[in-house]
Amino acid sequence: MSDFDVLIVGGGIAGASLGAEVAANRSTCLIEAESHCGFHSTGRSAAFWLESYGGAVVAQLSTASRAFLASPPADFVDHGLLRTRGDLHITRGELPELPAGIEARVIERAELERMVPGIRPEWGRGLLEPSCADIDVAALHSAYLRQFRIGGGEIRTDSRLASAERRGGDWVVGLDDGSKLTASILVDAAGAWADSVAEAAGVQPLGIEPKRRTMVQLRVGQSGLRDLPLVDDSEGTFYFKGEGERTIWLSPHDEIETGPCDAAPEEIDVAIAIDRFEKVVDWPIEAVERKWAGLRSFAPDRVPVYGFDPSAPGFFWCAGQGGFGIQTAPAAAKMAASLLLETEPDSTVAHIDPAPFSPARFR
Ligand SMILES: Cc1cc2nc3c(=O)[nH]c(=O)nc-3n(C[C@H](O)[C@H](O)[C@H](O)COP(=O)(O)OP(=O)(O)OC[C@H]3O[C@@H](n4cnc5c(N)ncnc54)[C@H](O)[C@@H]3O)c2cc1C
Repeated sequence: MSDFDVLIVGGGIAGASLGAEVAANRSTCLIEAESHCGFHSTGRSAAFWLESYGGAVVAQLSTASRAFLASPPADFVDHGLLRTRGDLHITRGELPELPAGIEARVIERAELERMVPGIRPEWGRGLLEPSCADIDVAALHSAYLRQFRIGGGEIRTDSRLASAERRGGDWVVGLDDGSKLTASILVDAAGAWADSVAEAAGVQPLGIEPKRRTMVQLRVGQSGLRDLPLVDDSEGTFYFKGEGERTIWLSPHDEIETGPCDAAPEEIDVAIAIDRFEKVVDWPIEAVERKWAGLRSFAPDRVPVYGFDPSAPGFFWCAGQGGFGIQTAPAAAKMAASLLLETEPDSTVAHIDPAPFSPARFR
């Protein structure tokens, strides 16, 4: 008899949200290598919901997550988790093409100047995606962990999977303190470590690659920034959004290949971010208040992976959430839970074909 039906590796948003959807139906344990859940990518995001982000396949999950994020059930969290600010895709040439069905309108130069005072003259036009919103990531993540516990789930922090072996229909998982746990289903929600966890379990990796992204909080000589839209360029070389009255969060939109690690910002990437920012607006930079980096982990086709591995019985992938793991979490968790529990999908995701997300596409 195994200790648990389901053992989830990783306590970021992926493991927490899927755990919350399955714990009431199966005895479930979540192990997290760090001393608290959310230490890695989930705690380092730019915290926005942008429907067009990640392309058409990913947009299905983002769109299906919106209603839950905007008006979550009262027993999940007592306030909405979105704060709308809009996204301006600005351009010096052609406007970007967004996936079909996403609401957007063209912003000509005069309006652009009103929305982003001090924008440099070469930025001629923009495309406004009005629905873009900030996500209260900490509240979402902790609500999922709470729902997981209420459903009967057990969380063990400081518990790193070191090995896993399939024996007689169960996974026997060795932790790095030498203890063992058994479960019939092993969920790989280990973010940047997803392939390492697969390898430790003798499962062929999928080629999930972590890429570092840098964030900088700047104080600038311009006020009234709190509600500034998210501003990005059609070539994908930066984004920034208002944070406080005179502060912004800025990223050089970097994707630097790295192994799984506790990511830290490099001075060169901070410098690149500032250089690009200064080419967009004439706001004097007063201070770099904060800088951080995190890993965005992608499957080879940049679509997340949800489902049982066809070549490894009881091994379930929940990985490759790239730069959209927060904004897709509600729908992704419901879709993944129906695959894991082999039940009918929730009505909010019943229209989404899970095939493009299946690990079978790589086998
Ligand atoms: C700078 C930045 C900006 C971003 N902005 C956004 C955004 O605006 N909107 C959005 O939706 N997404 C955004 N993302 C992406 C989002 O943060 C990720 O997609 C998401 O957090 C991934 O969640 P995860 O649970 O898969 O990974 P993680 O949060 O990294 O969790 C994986 C966990 O697994 C644990 N683990 C690993 N190996 C083991 C092991 N062997 N045993 C036990 N535990 C293990 C790790 O310790 C870790 O806590 C951003 C990411 C970055 C880095």
